[in-house]
Amino acid sequence: MCDWCLSVYPVSRIAQLGYQQTKTRSVGLYACGQLDCVDRILSPDTNNVHSMRETLTKEQKIQRYYARIGNFFDNSV
Ligand SMILES: [Zn+2]
Repeated sequence: MCDWCLSVYPVSRIAQLGYQQTKTRSVGLYACGQLDCVDRILSPDTNNVHSMRETLTKEQKIQRYYARIGNFFDNSV
């Protein structure tokens, strides 16, 4: 599952992003392999097996996506 847009993919389509924050701490996440999160959120195929069933609108999902990216960089970088 992408940590930013929450799309679910087979492991072959997920990328692991990370970096060494300090000598003893690494920070990472899983993201869409093509970094096409917004395309995934706006895709008309939102009810396929790779999407969680949610009641959020696409606009709310986009807002959540940007908030999750912001949180990652605010808390990790
Ligand atoms: Zn994504």
